[in-house]
This record gives sequence, structure tokens and C-alpha cells, in this order.
Amino acid sequence: PTDAHAPAIAIDHLTFAYADNQPVLHDLSLDIPPGAFIGIVGHTGSGKSTLLSLLLRYYPVSTGSIRLHGEALATIPNDRFRNDVGLVPQEPFLLAASARENIDMGRGLPFAEIEAAAKAAHAHGFISALEHGYDTPLGEGGSRLSSGQKQLIAIARALAGKPRVLLLDEATSRIDSQTEQIVQTALHELRGQVTIIAIAHRLSTIREADRIIVLNHGRISESGPHDAL
Ligand code: ATP
Ligand code: MG
Repeated sequence: PTDAHAPAIAIDHLTFAYADNQPVLHDLSLDIPPGAFIGIVGHTGSGKSTLLSLLLRYYPVSTGSIRLHGEALATIPNDRFRNDVGLVPQEPFLLAASARENIDMGRGLPFAEIEAAAKAAHAHGFISALEHGYDTPLGEGGSRLSSGQKQLIAIARALAGKPRVLLLDEATSRIDSQTEQIVQTALHELRGQVTIIAIAHRLSTIREADRIIVLNHGRISESGPHDAL
């Protein structure tokens, strides 16, 4: 029952507090069209990751609503939800397994899809250069890789499920500027194919975004394309 004309994500008068604390998101409303690339910036503690957590259903929404392609978030069956929403977390978790297994994550995807996802994430180059390519063990927690490469594996992993929505929480630090460039390019190439919400700690990562939302103490304080902010 998804509505092709509905926004990919519709947030309506959303207010959220952790337990009995003060709200960290205040009366947030936002419509994101399918295929849009939205960047979110804001000071530490402004509510960026909290907003992603709510989109991922980590916490129930009690005040206001979130709809995904016209459906109330809470009513979407788990298996479809898991398939439709891909996450690149701030601190990606890598298995002590091969590159292929780290992208597949037990889904049993055909190799062609794993490779296509790695290419889209610009991870194919460095994976191919490993001594056993996609079958190379990445070590405990991906210890063989730089933090930038781990981020690219995490992007490939998220894309391999062909999500309709891609949520990205950019690593706060330790990402070299070359990787940041690669992430920027990958997101740019994906625009139109998947709806992207990217939390950025550097404005440059989301320079190409259709719209940048500035969160300030849980409220949208500014919104517009990069050059207008
Ligand atoms: P950063 O840029 O540092 O990642 P952020 O914008 O992602 O910050 P959030 O993590 O969303 O900020 O935090 C928003 C507010 O909610 C902060 O005041 C934080 O202390 C609080 N908070 C976050 N997670 C929890 C939690 N699990 N329980 C209680 N309070 C929390
Ligand atoms: Mg955060």
C-alpha cells in the first residue's frame, strides 16, 4: 500500500524526548520527495542522530508522525522496512570476515549485486587490489582497512539491499579528505535513484545536496541549497 505520489519521507509536527527528559526535537515538519538528496547539519547535540534513530524506528514516535512513501512508519512490516531503509552508521561495525561477507551480511545476495554495490560505493577499487579481492579477510573489526575504507564498505553494504531510502551518519573524525571526496561523489551519483538523508559534519560532503537542513537545538533553523546558506 505505498503511494507513488507521496513524499518518500513525510515528517509532520514531530516532537521527541528521551524518556522524561526535555524534548530534543521540537515540532519538526519536513517533506522529502522521492530521489531527493537532503543534507543535515547542526552543532553537536542538536538532534541529528536522534532524527535518524526515529526514521529507523529505534524509538516509537509519540507526538506527531513520520510516514514513509505514504505509510505510517510503525505499520510497515519488519522485513520490508529492513529492505527499504539502508543505514550507514557513524561507526560502522565490520565482521572478521571477507569483503564479500561484510557487504552481503548474510543476505545471500548474488555476487553481481555485491560487486555493483561496491562499485556504486567506490569500494570496488581497493577491494579488487586486496590479495584475494572480495574473498580477502578484513580482520577483526575490519582492522586491515582505514576508517575511510570501512565507511565505503558500510555504504556498499547499505546499497546492496537496494534500499529506497539511504540514511548516512557521517563519521565525525578520522576520515581523510580523499575518502570524503569519494563519499561526496558516490552520493552525487546516487541522486535520483534513492532518497538520501546524509548527516554531515563537514558542509563539503553535502555540497551537492538538493537541500540542506540546519538543526539548532532540535528545530529547523535554516533550509536551502548549499550556496544559499
Ligand atoms: P553529534 O553531532 O554529536 O552526533 P547529534 O546532533 O547527533 O550530535 P543527538 O545524538 O541526536 O545529537 O543528541 C541530541 C540530544 O539528545 C543530546 O542532548 C543528547 O545528549 C541527547 N541524547 C542522545 N541520545 C540519547 C539517549 N539515548 N538518551 C538520552 N538522551 C540522549
Ligand atoms: Mg550524532
